[in-house]
Amino acid sequence: MRDTILTLIKLQDIDLRIKDIDQKLHTEPRALDEIKKELDQAKQELSLQMEKLKEKEREKRNAELELSDCEARIKKSQQRMMEVKTNKEYQALLIEIDEIKTLVSQWEERILELLEDIDSIKKAIAEGEKRIKELEKRRDLMQIRVNNSLKRLKEELSVLRQDREEVAKKLPEDLVKRYNFICDRRNGKAIVPVNHDAVCEGCHMHIPPQQYNELLKVDRIMSCPTCQRIIYWKGLIEETES
Ligand SMILES: [Zn+2]
Repeated sequence: MRDTILTLIKLQDIDLRIKDIDQKLHTEPRALDEIKKELDQAKQELSLQMEKLKEKEREKRNAELELSDCEARIKKSQQRMMEVKTNKEYQALLIEIDEIKTLVSQWEERILELLEDIDSIKKAIAEGEKRIKELEKRRDLMQIRVNNSLKRLKEELSVLRQDREEVAKKLPEDLVKRYNFICDRRNGKAIVPVNHDAVCEGCHMHIPPQQYNELLKVDRIMSCPTCQRIIYWKGLIEETES
């Protein structure tokens, strides 16, 4: 009976390790989520800047057309000045030229502003591209790390599954069924020790003295009357270890 209980404990140890690895197989790839999110944001930000750049360049081309149009109009007015007959016409042309000159300086100022804007957007784009490259590099490295880790965990898992099969073979089928049944309902803990104070370490309730005395004999499989887990006397492990 002692060996059966020890084998059952071994089975549970293996199962707990399997459970732990199963969990890691799910959580490990999450390390990539954060960096993928950052990368998506950086790409979105970059495409916004690209749009902004196109818009400013369009605006600049338009301003340049307006400017050359004004310059052409000044030239035309200056030519017409040679042909005017009256002083009144001459004065009117002067006023017209002055007005166009004001427009010219406004367009020139606007073009300078746009050049500055374009310059700072281009800088932001270069920074964004650099950041994306860095993030992609980090993501690739992380991907390799995650893949390696998953591969190692899967190998470990297949060894543990083999171990489990072998260990389970040593136990009576009924007992393994009972163990599995409790495992499913008690979060993977189907067999627990009862300590020297006669307390079940699964549910922390006392075992009645009569049952505790029986437990010390180690001659049959017993269950905790409160949580129904299979119980064993803690001293059994201590005896085995010493
Ligand atoms: Zn209990």
